[in-house]
Amino acid sequence: MSVAHPRERFKCCICGRVFPRGQGIVVMLPGGVLAFHSSKCAARFLRLLLDSGSKEVVSSALRLAKELESKQVEAQERRVKKI
Ligand SMILES: [Zn+2]
Repeated sequence: MSVAHPRERFKCCICGRVFPRGQGIVVMLPGGVLAFHSSKCAARFLRLLLDSGSKEVVSSALRLAKELESKQVEAQERRVKKI
């Protein structure tokens, strides 16, 4: 296991731009790293992932979206009760 170097650099997998740790969006996954230099590139990746992804990818994305939506409703209800 390698210890993360503070000057570690990542390469955006969408546009190829290299950026230092602490910038951009870096997602560490068990099988590798997803690095995006900007949220715009991350959004583009999401689009590509869903367009080319398998049914499982799409359905888990939709499931997660639904879950998050219901959490928002819960949070809103809690807020209303406080008032
Ligand atoms: Zn980029």
